[in-house]
Amino acid sequence: MSPENLDRNLPQFSLKQVKKIVADLYRIDGEYKELNCERDISYRIRTGSDQAYIVKISNAADSEGVVDFQVKALKHIVEQDSDMQVPRVIPTKDDKSFDWVQSDSGDRHMIRILTYVKGDTMDNTPAAFNHQTRYNIGRMVGRLTRSLRNFYHPYAGSNVHLWDMSHCLELRPYIEYLPDASTRDLCNLILDHAESFVLPKLKKTRWQVVHHDAHPDNVLVDPENPTRVVGVIDFGDMLFGPVLADLVAASDSFDDDTGPLEALCSTAAGFDSSFPLEENEIDLAYDMMLICLLVNTVIIGARDALSDGSEKVHIENTGRYARMLERLWAIKREEAIDQLRRACRFPVYSARNEGDEVFPDRTNKLLAKRKATIGDAWYFYDKPLNFTRSEGPWLYTADGKAFLDAYNNVQQMGHGNPHIATAIARQAAAINVNTRYICDIVAEYAERLTAELPNHLNACFFVNSGSEANDVALQIAKFATGNTGALIMEDAYHGITETTMHLSPEILEPHDNVVCLQAPDMYRGPFANAPDAAGKYAADADRAIAELASCGYKPALYMVDTALCSNGVLMAPDNYFNLVAQKVKNAGGLVVADEVQSGLGRLGNMWGFKAQALEHVDVVTMGKPVANGFPLGVVITSRELLNGFSREIDLFSTFGGNPVACAAGMALLDEIERRDLVKKSRDLGDYFRYRLRRLADKQPLIGDVRGKGMMIGLEFVIDRENKTRASEQTSRLIELMKEECVLVSEAGPKNVLKIRPNFSWEREHVDLFVTTLNLCLSKL
Ligand code: PMP
Repeated sequence: MSPENLDRNLPQFSLKQVKKIVADLYRIDGEYKELNCERDISYRIRTGSDQAYIVKISNAADSEGVVDFQVKALKHIVEQDSDMQVPRVIPTKDDKSFDWVQSDSGDRHMIRILTYVKGDTMDNTPAAFNHQTRYNIGRMVGRLTRSLRNFYHPYAGSNVHLWDMSHCLELRPYIEYLPDASTRDLCNLILDHAESFVLPKLKKTRWQVVHHDAHPDNVLVDPENPTRVVGVIDFGDMLFGPVLADLVAASDSFDDDTGPLEALCSTAAGFDSSFPLEENEIDLAYDMMLICLLVNTVIIGARDALSDGSEKVHIENTGRYARMLERLWAIKREEAIDQLRRACRFPVYSARNEGDEVFPDRTNKLLAKRKATIGDAWYFYDKPLNFTRSEGPWLYTADGKAFLDAYNNVQQMGHGNPHIATAIARQAAAINVNTRYICDIVAEYAERLTAELPNHLNACFFVNSGSEANDVALQIAKFATGNTGALIMEDAYHGITETTMHLSPEILEPHDNVVCLQAPDMYRGPFANAPDAAGKYAADADRAIAELASCGYKPALYMVDTALCSNGVLMAPDNYFNLVAQKVKNAGGLVVADEVQSGLGRLGNMWGFKAQALEHVDVVTMGKPVANGFPLGVVITSRELLNGFSREIDLFSTFGGNPVACAAGMALLDEIERRDLVKKSRDLGDYFRYRLRRLADKQPLIGDVRGKGMMIGLEFVIDRENKTRASEQTSRLIELMKEECVLVSEAGPKNVLKIRPNFSWEREHVDLFVTTLNLCLSKL
């Protein structure tokens, strides 16, 4: 490879010649000042009217496409973003965007005139070298890149030049001209890294027409206020390339105080604010910055080494790029990615695709920090898991290891559901104010949520959690009935607030105004095989009502999770819930269906109480899955009741039913409808139980398989005859399953697995679960 490719071959025109051409073609005259260009010649012309222009005469090697590409791009940018301070094209007197002229040597060149954009170059403004300006440069260049995203020109792929970062490998032959051996070694290392790692990944990022050259000499700032970025100039290096090239070129604003990574982070934050970066871009920004510095190091260094002094120097070789290259290379990639992600508020890095780098495990460090800052709050497993990503049925740790999630019932429509995530982001970007204002989506959501409920359940009050919903439900029941007692199931869990804690015997012994009903256990309960089990279990409500009365209370409500999840996912006998409800009604109480576990298709019906054939409920409460993980709780009752209660106490919840939560809830309903997920819950749940029952043929520990839809209870017993609870085996099994990357947990009585897959599961996931369960049971 010869060094000729580095030659600039500047056009040969005297100032006098240029002045004459400009006067002839543009009728413009004024005071000329030569500007420093790499391959063109260029002057600033100040006219008497205080107007200024730039005249450019292109390199003889440039084809018409180069200039046409630039003038059309400039027009396009202004069309897209009329405030963008980029040069405007001045037509010739014959209304051409450019024209052809000939030098004395006979070479033909294109000439064009652009408006002079006011402002000082950042390079000439020492006060501009600060974080704020860098952020604003990123913001401005992001706008520029954004305005070019729908620009096409046939020449865009032909503007071949040395600075093209995506062609950096072509600079390898020039490295040998660099005088310093360690710089040469480093450049070769970085090109190796580019070849094997960066460039293949770069192909998967966004490409479009990019400016590619917003370094401090091409960025203009307001001399009065150097943090204000007022323009971007010089479109000569524009080409079809990666969006990242624009970001890293604009980050060439470091100095000895502020290293390249710091400059890159500030610029990336600004860029991201006007043209959001994508995840694969932020993780490659550090590597592209290395390439950007390498390109500068090699071209400037090799040109300097090869110069015979006959041509004016384009960029002086101060050794700065080589120094910065070393400085950036010394920073660990993990650290750089972490800083860049923080700058743009991306979630933490996680290896997701094959070949992605895996960084050392941070779980212990995070655990220590968690303990120091949020105390000993409950976490799962002796050796806890640090999940960083999720998708459908899967949770992933930072090393990319996938865990099949059969436990978490909040993300009922699948982890990271894209439709719901997008709806949240779009609504958050549009408006999110409290419900004392009228926002379209709130009432629309309430209407849709109640559409399939019995007519009298027609009004929603929105809160932020299941606990809050149950708390409000109890208040409504007390208001409506004038009573203060409550009936709940033994081992029930209804929430964390002061009131709902006392409705949660799973956690706390209730006060004497709350009485628990015996769980209708059809596997091991006293009436499991009785002919009228429903009646017999329901009779316990008479006892409970009498017990309340003996303490001077009447029931305000009977609150029930009809999935009986915390009782070990029991299946009550037919008509049990109706019989209890009737008794409660007769005693003057309301029936509240706590649908936190059972709602939204979990039991193979949109509503849990309907799946369990409970005919009349007065109030429905919802939480957890209702917005697929976005905090939302709902109380649904009759309009009359809600209005009466709300007038009494000026009912209001600041966050409850905010438009973002409602957008999430609405998108969730879209998913249920469009993908027929209630039916899927029914069918896949049946298949799951079928597979488990078959497994029971060879695994004697399995005592009972029960449930409805995608709510499954799997009870383990040491011997089937006596149904002795296999509690210790169950907790060992849960750990073994975790070792095999399957997440599941026990329900109330410790010997029951509650299996609650989300609705993105398919049969293959059920099969994987059953195979793993078989393996782990065999290891016990
Ligand atoms: N009710 C039931 C049946 C629940 O399972 C839970 C949570 N496990 C709650 C209420 C409380 O919901 P949250 O944690 O959202 O307050």
